[in-house]
Amino acid sequence: MKTIGILGSTGSIGTQSLDVAQKQGYTVSVLTAGSNDSLLEEQIRRFHPKKAALLDEEKAKELRVRVADTNTVVLGGEEGICECAADRDADVVINAIVGLAGLRPTLAVLQAGKDLALANKESLVAGGYLVKEAAAQHHAAILPVDSEHSAIFQCLQGKPANAALKKIILTASGGPFFGKKKEELRHVTVQQALKHPNWSMGAKITVDSATMFNKGLELIEAVRLFEVAPEQVDIVVHRESIVHSLVMYDDNSVIAQLGLPDMRIPIQYALTYPARYPSPVGELDLAACASLSFAGPDEETFPCIGLCRHAVKAGGLYPAAVNSANEEANLLFRQGKIGFLEIPERIQRAAANLRNYERFSLDDIYAVDEQMRQAVRAAGQ
Ligand code: NDP
Ligand code: MG
Repeated sequence: MKTIGILGSTGSIGTQSLDVAQKQGYTVSVLTAGSNDSLLEEQIRRFHPKKAALLDEEKAKELRVRVADTNTVVLGGEEGICECAADRDADVVINAIVGLAGLRPTLAVLQAGKDLALANKESLVAGGYLVKEAAAQHHAAILPVDSEHSAIFQCLQGKPANAALKKIILTASGGPFFGKKKEELRHVTVQQALKHPNWSMGAKITVDSATMFNKGLELIEAVRLFEVAPEQVDIVVHRESIVHSLVMYDDNSVIAQLGLPDMRIPIQYALTYPARYPSPVGELDLAACASLSFAGPDEETFPCIGLCRHAVKAGGLYPAAVNSANEEANLLFRQGKIGFLEIPERIQRAAANLRNYERFSLDDIYAVDEQMRQAVRAAGQ
């Protein structure tokens, strides 16, 4: 039986990971959260981890007192989260933290030589070769949790050594604003952006799906994970979210992975790989799907895809820069401080001033993060 760690256990992916862990009978060695102390306490009492951490140090102190009757050690701050990430007992650690905040924990998992089940795409996008090198150096695997990347990973299995991968075809649901033109998006509300047609997810990624910045992040994620050129990644809008992504080989044969839109399938596969076990997710009934539709993305209305494609082609710190600029713009939109169309505008303006370097350090990423967030905030003044 496996022992797993879950970073970001109180979120959408985190809670679904615990559901999978429970059904598979896994031991959970570490749990971490940002500030949701009450849910983390419930999880500690249910899963009995050896260690747990909260980013919020004050709340960590209070929680430590409240769970003094358990055997769980409660740590605080980013350092505490990274200590959990590097847990010696875990066979695999899921990083389900949202945003760049997941980068140090991602590196901590890999540097401990642990396999990383990666939901936190922002850490791979921003960290780039630092993340890949840490994995290679410490012989740790990065197993994709993102549904599209899990699909590609599955499509690539059984690939004969002489079969060349021609293309990756990423599917996109199109989000709540599919089919709308730019002017119709000027006054959309946060509530409208938070209504995703097929997936129930955390607020940040749901807004990223509405702007399609999420698909841009996933394009960069695919380039990094599968080591293909940006030109080899196509994006196709598939409203039904049944085909989770596809690969095309040199002979133009295309392989796809299908299933109901439920993250517990890719989460479970990242944990059980290469084995497969029964899952709590229902069977796909193709006849009930009636029709599956495909269309090219409208990149004029949704310019975030192009911003990310440009960033990955430019390389170096560019992906980190657009990621940080997006985090800030996404937040300002959710706070009601900027309009929906200002999200790509502010990202583009902020990233235009980047001084780029091909090789960079972790400190460079955090310096760019600060610079981009400030530039995005200042863009409206
Ligand atoms: P949520 O917002 O639901 O959960 C985020 C988790 O991270 C929570 O446990 C939260 O704690 C914790 N957290 C937030 N901020 C910090 C911080 N600064 N430091 C440490 N921990 C923090 O997000 P999702 O579960 O939706 O997404 C998580 C990741 O998975 C994202 O990178 C997303 O892109 C990716 N992903 C998500 C999918 C989904 O279906 N939800 C699908 C594919 C990828 P607290 O609750 O205390 O705030
Ligand atoms: Mg995805």
